[in-house]
Order: sequence, then C-alpha cells, then structure tokens
Amino acid sequence: MNKLFGFTIMGVLALTACTTANESVQEEQPWIVDRFDDIKVIRYEVPGFNELPLEDKVLIYYLAEAAKCGRDILFDQNFKYNLAVRRTLEQIYTASEVREGAQFAAFEKYLKKVWFANGIHHHYSNDKFTPEFSEAWFREQLASYINDENRHIEDDLLCKIIFDKELYASRLNQTAGVDVITSSANNYYEGVTQAEVEAFYAKMIAADEGNPEPISYGLNSKLMRNEKGEIVENVWKIGGMYSQAIERIVFWLEKAAGVANPTQREILQALIKYYNTGDLKDFDAYNILWVKDTESNVDVVNGFIEDYGDPLGRKASWESVVNFRDEEACHRTEIMAANAQWFEDNAPINPAYRKAEVKGVSAKVITVAMLGGDCYPATAIGINLPNADWIRKEYGSKSVTIDNITYAYDKAALGNGFMEEFVLREEDRERMKQWGKYSDDLHTDLHECLGHGSGQLAPGTKGNELRTYSSTLEEARADLFALYYLGDPKLIEIGLISTLDVAWAQYSKYIMNGMQTQLSRIEPGKSVEESHMRNRKLIAEWCYEKGKAENVIEIVKKDGKSYVVVNDFERLRELFGELLCEVQRIKSEGDYEACKELIESYAVQVDPEFHAEVIARNKALNIEPYGGFVNPEYELVTDAEGNIVDVKISYPANYVEQHLDYSTNYSFLPSIN
Ligand code: ZN
Repeated sequence: MNKLFGFTIMGVLALTACTTANESVQEEQPWIVDRFDDIKVIRYEVPGFNELPLEDKVLIYYLAEAAKCGRDILFDQNFKYNLAVRRTLEQIYTASEVREGAQFAAFEKYLKKVWFANGIHHHYSNDKFTPEFSEAWFREQLASYINDENRHIEDDLLCKIIFDKELYASRLNQTAGVDVITSSANNYYEGVTQAEVEAFYAKMIAADEGNPEPISYGLNSKLMRNEKGEIVENVWKIGGMYSQAIERIVFWLEKAAGVANPTQREILQALIKYYNTGDLKDFDAYNILWVKDTESNVDVVNGFIEDYGDPLGRKASWESVVNFRDEEACHRTEIMAANAQWFEDNAPINPAYRKAEVKGVSAKVITVAMLGGDCYPATAIGINLPNADWIRKEYGSKSVTIDNITYAYDKAALGNGFMEEFVLREEDRERMKQWGKYSDDLHTDLHECLGHGSGQLAPGTKGNELRTYSSTLEEARADLFALYYLGDPKLIEIGLISTLDVAWAQYSKYIMNGMQTQLSRIEPGKSVEESHMRNRKLIAEWCYEKGKAENVIEIVKKDGKSYVVVNDFERLRELFGELLCEVQRIKSEGDYEACKELIESYAVQVDPEFHAEVIARNKALNIEPYGGFVNPEYELVTDAEGNIVDVKISYPANYVEQHLDYSTNYSFLPSIN
C-alpha cells in the first residue's frame, strides 16, 4: 500500500530540465520510444551497470530473468480472460498480411493499450477499453487467422468481452453502496459476494485475534468456490494456481541464490520456500530477512506485494523490481534517516500518536535494472516495503527512490510547454525551473522514508477499520508529512536545502496538480477514483477551503483560463500541519466515519466546467498524461569454456517488439487459469 506514483507524469518534472536549456530537445526525443492514445513509452538507462563487479552483473541478470517470468500472472489477476484476449490479438497482429488502413491502425492501438495495462482495462482508471475498430472487421480477422489450433477462447465470447460496453466494464469498482466484488472484473474473486468475502476473512482474523504477528490473510490466493460449492482459497504457489509461471520464477531465483552473497542467499532461499509452500508465515519470515539486509548492493522485490487492484485491499498483484544502489544520491536519504527521530518527535500531531522510538528507517536511492509485473510498463518512482504493519513496527521498512526512472521522465518531458500553460506567475515558474526536480526528489524521499513509517495506532485499533478509504488516507498522511517538513528550516540546518524556495516550488506544483492539472487524467463526467490522485485532491482542496478567508490559495481567472496560485506559503505549511494532525488521528483511532466524510467531501467530486477546461488546455499541448517504460536487455557473455565473463546491457527502442518477445519467451500460463 505504499508506493509513490509520479505526479511527474503530468510533465511537472519537465521544470528543472529547462534550466539546462532546451538546446538538445531534438536529440532528446529518442527518450520517448512510442506514443499512443493517452500513453507515452519512455526508455530508461541504467547508469553504473557496466562498472559493477561481475558477480553483481550476473546476479542482476538472473533476477531480471525472474522478473520477466511473472508477466502472465498479472494479466490473469487483472481479468480471467486477459491472456486469451492478448494471445488472440497477438496472433492476428503477427499473422496479418494487410497492415494498413484505419481498422488495422485502431486494432494496433488497442493491442498496445492492452500490453500497457496488462489487460483490457485501463491501468489507472480501471475502465474497460473501447475499441475503435469494428466488430465486423474483427470477425473477418478471426475467420482469417484464428483456427482450431490457435483458438484460446470462443469467438462470440471474445467479441462480447471486447465490444459489449456493459460487460466487465470496470476492473476495480469502488463505488460506495454497490457490491464491490461482484461488480469488479478482476480475477481475485469468483462466484462470491462482498458479504461472503468479508465474512470469510473476518472469521480467519477473529481466529488469529491477539497474535502479535498477524498474518496478511488472503494476500496470495483467489477466493472462489470448489466443486462442492464451498468457499475456498486457491493459493498462488508451486503446485497451486499459477504454478507454471512460479516454477520459472523460482528456477531463476535459484540461479541467483547460487551467485549471491551469503546474506542474500538466505533471503532468496526464504523467498523460494514461500513460493513452494504458499504459507504467509513464510512470506513474513522472508520479509523480515529482506528488510534487515541494507548492505547488499543489488536488491530485488519479487512477489505478490501491493493490494491496489483489490477493492477490499486484500489480494496482492505480482510484481518485481531489480535494482542496485546509487551511492552518490544515497547521501541525502542517509541524512534524513539519521534525523528520523527528530522528525517524529516534532510532528504536528497528537503526541500520543507519535512513535516513541523510530526503528530501522532505511532509505536509499536506487538505479532500476529491470521492471516486471505490476511495475511494468508503468512504474512507481519510489517503493516502501514490506507492507505488513507489524513487521514495519518491529523491524522497520526499506524505502527507496528510483533515480534513473525520474531522470527518464524528466528527459521525456523536456520543452513540452506544460509550465507555460498552467503556471501563471513568472516568479513561480523561475522557482520551479530552478528547484523542481530536486524538490520532487526530496518530497519523494520524505514521503517514503519518513512519512509512511511515522506515527502509531491507538491501543485497540487494528488498522483495517478504514476499509476502502485506507489507501487514500495513508498516502495523504505520507504526503502531508513530506510537505510539512519540506518547508521546515530544519532542512537547511541539516544541509538538505539551502533555501526554502525549494519547498515553495513544491508547494506551488503540488497544489496546482492536486486541484487542477491531474484532472486531465480523468474522463469527463467521471469522479476521482485512484487513491494517489484522491490524496492529492484531498490535500489541495482542503487547504484551499480552510485558507479561503486569508486567500492562501487563489484561483485566478485570466483571458478565460483558470490558474491555481499559492499566495501564502508559510500559512499553507501550517494548514498542511493541521490536516496531518487530523489524518493521523483518523488513522490512529480507526475513525471510519470521519475518514469517509473527509475523503468524500474533498477528494472525489470534480467540477465539470473546471474539469473540461483542464482537459482542453492539456489536449492542446499534446502531452500524454501517462508514462511507462521499455526495459533494457541483458545478455550473458561467455568464454570458450562456457564461463560467464561479462553481462552486456543494451537499450532496445521498440515497444511492440519487446512485448512480442515477452509474450513469446516469457509466457508460461494456460489461457484460462
Ligand atoms: Zn506512499
């Protein structure tokens, strides 16, 4: 539940790049390798890879192979017919002899979107894609290229899935008052209602009552009915559901364990054990070993980790991130970690909800070497794991920010005109130009390495009281912690910033994004659903309203356009502190009613006129609101005796080829699981 997604996607991160001038805008274009619909695909580089010792390179190679092997799992988790749909589309795409015309172009775009979203629902809005090719044309393709040997799904069902607007309309429905399980198309549950799911897990949790090491029940299984009609968990493990893919993941993890240092070997073996047993106690044991290792240069996230895809926040999607340490950039997070207790002790919250002793805040900046599963093609720019609250409390958490990914976003957004369009005042633009990228980095670090780890629950609060609102509230808490401290003179004292202008640059950007520019990612008529977007809107709108009498934040109208402007940064910082106090209280006390009221009042509804204006202005700039990546490729170099002597890295620049390659060489699951 603790990933920080880039609001860089909006092009806000373009800002710093402007200080180094636009001299190489033309040359920089290759950072973007594909554009379609609302998506741009960027390549990222892996600086420092060639300088790594051979054993690190080989370890990365094996972990990268493991990262690619779980791709099918995510497709299937997102929707039970995704693999059948993808395979049929790929078959038509590669076999097709007539590769031109409007119908084929629309079909290609649809397939590119399916690859990007790991399924037929938008990765961010969760809405099913609307095809722009006709059913008649598609049926001709089926007749030409799909036969009994390569058919994965009946033609009629396939056409219904693609063309019937009402069927499987949303992957993740969080609408209040409806059954969020039966109305969501994800494959985490089948044949069970929301009430049945809640009763099933309430019983498990009640049986575990008082366990100081509570199990993350339901994390690694599909809840469904067996032949007798009983509700059972189908566990994702070797010998269970997704076995064929997990076996391949484990094959490469075993290779990795063979070349890892002793500490890491033990960690990887614990992960392999968990993949074999599917026992969530083994997962906790693995996480404890993993979080304690802050020394190894190479690190990996590999498993069923984040629960954003489940409306009840229980089932985790499969993901992997292979990375290694960026030594230079680690310096600033080390300063934060060294001062973690000071930040906790001075947080503007009820002292009863501060942690008496902040444990094991490890923070580092990493270079990503491979993205897989739910981190590919779209990825987070920071990670904070593990998610189990009791492990975080007892053993701490590992927090990372991903520098080569933010760098690539930054490069891809060069000179796109975003700032000129949405930032009214020259002084704000100047401040953002000078400090934008750095203030983003600091904000991410504070959010990940201090924000999520701060605070504690009141006695008696279990941590699951906030239900569907918990992710939004938790992200708001971490963001508010970061925003509040970004403007603290303490940061100057400990050498993280030289001027509060760094904070003010972030304040202007954050409020503008939360109230206005992020809305370009919402379709007209829709409300805000995604938890990170909700969190930003909540913070910005709450501060706007509370500071209205003092004109802290102002919506300025000029030449028919609206601009969101911060007039009083110091007062805004106080408002961040006040909201943090309330958000922490809600979390600590598990106050569901107050949480619902806060989020429904500020974070969800969009003013239609204001919304339409943002969309129109953003559209005129031709900036795709979402970004994702192609991975680099690694190749083992061997000598005459077959010994590995090097690992070569290359940067492919073809989105389509990468996905066809993955679908050919890293696809291990049946079409229906
Ligand atoms: Zn977060």
